[in-house]
Formats: sequence, structure tokens, C-alpha cells
Amino acid sequence: MADARAGQPVLGPALSVQPGAAIGILGGGQLGRMLAMAAASLGLKTHIFCPDADCPAFDVAAARTVAAYEDKAALKRFAAAVSVATYEFENVPEATASALAALVSLRPDVRALATSQDRLVEKMFVAGIGIATAPFRAVDSEADLAAALAELGTPAILKTRRFGYDGKGQVRITPGDRAGEAFAHLGGAPAILEGLVPFSREISIVAARGPDGAFAAYEPCLNEHRDGILAVTRLPAGLPAATEVQAVDAARRIADALDYVGVITVEMFVLEGRNGQDGILVNEIAPRVHNSGHWTIEGAETSQFAQHVRAVCGWPLGSTSRLRPVEMRNLIGSEIDGWPALLAESGAYPHHYGKARARPGRKMGHVTYIRP
Ligand code: AMP
Repeated sequence: MADARAGQPVLGPALSVQPGAAIGILGGGQLGRMLAMAAASLGLKTHIFCPDADCPAFDVAAARTVAAYEDKAALKRFAAAVSVATYEFENVPEATASALAALVSLRPDVRALATSQDRLVEKMFVAGIGIATAPFRAVDSEADLAAALAELGTPAILKTRRFGYDGKGQVRITPGDRAGEAFAHLGGAPAILEGLVPFSREISIVAARGPDGAFAAYEPCLNEHRDGILAVTRLPAGLPAATEVQAVDAARRIADALDYVGVITVEMFVLEGRNGQDGILVNEIAPRVHNSGHWTIEGAETSQFAQHVRAVCGWPLGSTSRLRPVEMRNLIGSEIDGWPALLAESGAYPHHYGKARARPGRKMGHVTYIRP
């Protein structure tokens, strides 16, 4: 018998954000730029809010607001112009995120932002849900630091609670160092002392969670840092299967506990154990797409940027399957001068962030190599 509906289009559930709508992004760096490019490929427009008129994301966005994050009137106009809002870096002031969330759906929400902005809050949250971290103590004074060092010993790392990135805002303390100098080095800012972890490898889990609780993780990324900055990411990471499961499970528990929506990245240390029984410790949560996930643009079925857009729009998440072995190398500072040679390399997918001036330590672009 003929199906009465034959020839009719098959309709899925209605989408709350339709193609043609605008997504608002707080922050205009390279992550915002690549999010805007992915949004465009999914039929969406982006509106970037950034205090810097010269930011990389403006080149590729349909609309822009150049205003301070404290500018309430500008935030109100921005909120009125978009269907959903997100952010591309975690140092957006919490008050800005709260003001915006009162006007338009903000994904991930203010709690996810606030939790990851402060290393102490973040570590307490992670430990509170039963996931291991480096040993840590809050340090608000020289006396606190002396007490924390007496408990955790040396070597240790003192980090500012807020605004640290790419190894900035932290100092190592080795036996014989004067604690007072380390605290002064960070300007006396509220800090956290961490025991130095003897890790064998650094990995990250890039994953996405939808508003309905759907969860999809990419396989672990193996990360190599130089001078505190990510230099290279490789996949496959070559971890024991049980370690992969443990790492993905930790990311899922963190995302679930935050009722998270969007792409989340969890940086972890791998501790080598006996008989392939490695352990993992969570170092940091990034409530956003992440440098270690750039390989997904060419190396996975769905890029992390498209995945974030899907998640914040409440669209079905895409497949996170990796297509081939991949290696992503950052182009930092003057490494961007190798651009003409990169263009000539076969198997290389070069990305330039369009930044006018290279400075030491500045991320200027990246290149992904797809291996046979
Ligand atoms: P972070 O700013 O916390 O991501 O730290 C930057 C880099 O410093 C990490 O990627 C590690 O290589 C190193 N690091 C940070 N914390 C620790 C720790 N507790 N033990 C050992 N190495 C660390």
C-alpha cells in the first residue's frame, strides 16, 4: 500500500533558532572569527561585541558592536539584535554576562563562566564532584603562602586566581626560593598554590553538550606546550583505552554538573601508572572552543566551531569522529613569517587570523597537517 505521506518532506522537530538568525558573540579574537565562519556555513549571521575596533572576528561578521563590556546601552542593543548569545573567552566580566543573560539566552550560562574565571572556584567545583585535581591551597597573603608551602612542599606553582592564560600570572617555586618574592611577583593578587604534578602527558577533552543534555566528545587531544603556550596538538593521543574513557567521563560529569550548553574544553594531566592504569587530574576548564580543538576544522566530521554553534542554537550535535591522524601547530609571533612556505606545503591546511602585527607569544595563525 502506498504511503499517504510519500513525497512529503520529512520534518524534524521545529528549530528554536532558524537559519538566517543572528548569534551574538562576546569577544572578537580568533576563536570568535572561526565561530563566525562556521556559523555562516550553517546559514547563520554573527554579531560580534568587542571593545577593540581592530579585532580579528570583525573581518568575517555580519554585524559589530565596538563598546566597552560595561556599556549597558550597547549591551541592550546587542541583545535585541541576536537570537542567542555566547562568548569566546572566559574573561568577559561576570556583570556583563549577567546583564546580557537577563535580556537574551546566554549559552554557556553565567555559572559556567564564573566557575572557570577563578582557579580556586574552579578547583573546588571539580574536586567537589569527585574528580581529582593537583593539590591546591588558597593564597591571599604571604602568611597563607608560607602555610600552603609547609603543607604542599616544593616544587609548587603559584598562580593568580583570575586572568591567567598561556602560562601568564604564574610562578614556579622550587626548594630554597623565597616565598615572599613569588607572592610579590604576582603583584600580591589573590592566588592559588598548586603542587607540581609529575605528569607524563597533557591532554584535553573538547566536548559539546546541548540544552537537552545530549553530549558528544572528541577523542583526547595530546598537547605540547612551549613557554606555557600550546605549541602542538596531535591525534590519536595514543592513550590506554581506559584512560580515554576516564578523561571523557570527567568532561561529561563536569558538563552535566554545570548544566552546560555549548562546547567545553577540559585540560588534564595524565599520570603514568602501572599496567596501563594511568590516572588523570583536571587542570583547567575552558567554557568555550579551544586552541587544542582547531584540528577538528579539517580533521573531524564536525568542527568544534560548528558544534558550538549547533549546541547554542539547540540544534542536533554533529558527529565528532576523527577522519585521519592529525597534527595542529600554532603559528606564534614571528612563525607567521613562514606563511608563503606553508602555502606551498602539501597536506597542510594553513589558517591566518588576520592580525596586523606579530608580537612574541601572540597567536597569529595555525596549520593543521592531515596525515595519511
Ligand atoms: P595553566 O595556566 O594552568 O594551563 O598552566 C600552564 C601550563 O603550566 C600547563 O599546561 C602545564 O604545562 C603547566 N602546569 C600548570 N599547573 C601545573 C601543575 N600543578 N603541575 C605541573 N605543571 C603545571
